[in-house]
Amino acid sequence: MKPADISALLDEPACAHNKKEKSGCARPKPGASAGGCAFDGAQIALLPIADVAHVVHGPIACAGNSWDNRGTRSSGPTLYRIGMTTDLSEQDVIMGRGEKRLFHGIKQAIDRYRPAAVFVYNTCVPALIGDDIEAVSKAAAERWGVPVVPVDSAGFYGTKNLGNRIAGEAMVKYVIGTREPEPLPADVAPEGITVHSINLIGEYNIAGELWHITPLFDELGIRVLCTLSGDARFHEVQTMHRAEVNMLVCAKAMINVARKMEERWGVPWFEGSFYGITDTSAALREIARIVGDADLVARTEALIAREEAKVRAALDAWRPRLEGKRVLLFTGGVKSWSVVSALQDLGMVVVASGTKKSTEEDKARILELMGDKAIMLQSEGARDLLNAVYELEADILIAGGRNLYTALKARLPFLDINQEREFGYAGYEGMKELVRQLALTLESPVWKAVRKPAPWTHKAMVVAGPELGDSPDAEDGPEAHDHAPLAGAAA
Ligand code: SF4
Repeated sequence: MKPADISALLDEPACAHNKKEKSGCARPKPGASAGGCAFDGAQIALLPIADVAHVVHGPIACAGNSWDNRGTRSSGPTLYRIGMTTDLSEQDVIMGRGEKRLFHGIKQAIDRYRPAAVFVYNTCVPALIGDDIEAVSKAAAERWGVPVVPVDSAGFYGTKNLGNRIAGEAMVKYVIGTREPEPLPADVAPEGITVHSINLIGEYNIAGELWHITPLFDELGIRVLCTLSGDARFHEVQTMHRAEVNMLVCAKAMINVARKMEERWGVPWFEGSFYGITDTSAALREIARIVGDADLVARTEALIAREEAKVRAALDAWRPRLEGKRVLLFTGGVKSWSVVSALQDLGMVVVASGTKKSTEEDKARILELMGDKAIMLQSEGARDLLNAVYELEADILIAGGRNLYTALKARLPFLDINQEREFGYAGYEGMKELVRQLALTLESPVWKAVRKPAPWTHKAMVVAGPELGDSPDAEDGPEAHDHAPLAGAAA
């Protein structure tokens, strides 16, 4: 990818901060890719397209796991779960065999799995040695008659967010608009109801949470042409240009796709979230409003009234157990504010929100929801995170899986909110799951057990008295036996 193309992606005109002052997105600083490189961002954005063979062209370590690199679910094909890589070695680099290896890798993926398409992800090494993945992809597609899409996403191009945009760019350039949607059967909707088509961009169906939303759309007569990319199929991505509305579910990720689709095919877009009752209702209302069908607006209002009443009644039983509990939310991007709204719906107090990967717009939304005094955490270091937990007297840490062991080692209740999570929290149904998981986490008996002094410490004290010199663990030093309650440790 040429530097000019990277700059164009960073200078995304649809970003609000870029409208105010031509600042562009922040350039990566050293350590920025600790949260994932551009390749990682591109791969996670597209990996949920389930019937595609995702081939990583590069050394084997870039590819991550060989199975299920993404906690996203599919209602059909599971091809996306197989990790594929060209496994470039030092010899391939020295002998200039990278492109050949890729060509044969694509062939092997097609012969073995008959995918709807092959996506080829570029990584640092082939980008540095100048492998032309675009030319190889074109030659392979012509040779075997299967679409092969190059995603030029070498890690050193920039951050994970840039990678998301590179992935979106590849979809706009090579895939969207290359096919027309199948006509709907005449009897699909009850008489008098017009079916409208939408896309959800940036919804990844983590832990199957998209399926909390789709029944609502079905009931309203809204056809989700494509979800980019949760539970998507390649042919659905090809038809996205025929939608009446694009909803941008995770704003920062693929804003360029929404903007370019508006420019090229006139599809209006808006940014919304399915986390929390308030935001779910707002998103449904906005879709109906943009579509501009009065009947749909009325039916949407009726559905919202019914669903909100149902979910609020269900949450009332849990509220006393959660109300007033203090949460430290440490996640990135759109979740840094959308989850705040969900937690506030439950009467919980969000004491701070992590904003390391948030945009200026995300931060503005946090201030709107949490007030001017909202604390935003920038640092990602474990020590800083724990200090914040102690200082702000948080009862629970809600964060990504990367912080799991930081929390567990500090004996802190922890709920995973990122892609590795096991439960879906989107929509009205997702709220019920969220509340259940929060209560189970906070009230788990394990916290009480692990905060008690270890039994062997007690025994050693009884046998040897206050002098611990004879204890088998004495060489660890007194700090190793510090079983003081957390608050004490924090102080
Ligand atoms: S080598 Fe490059 S592409 Fe691969 S994981 Fe590292 S930064 Fe990302």
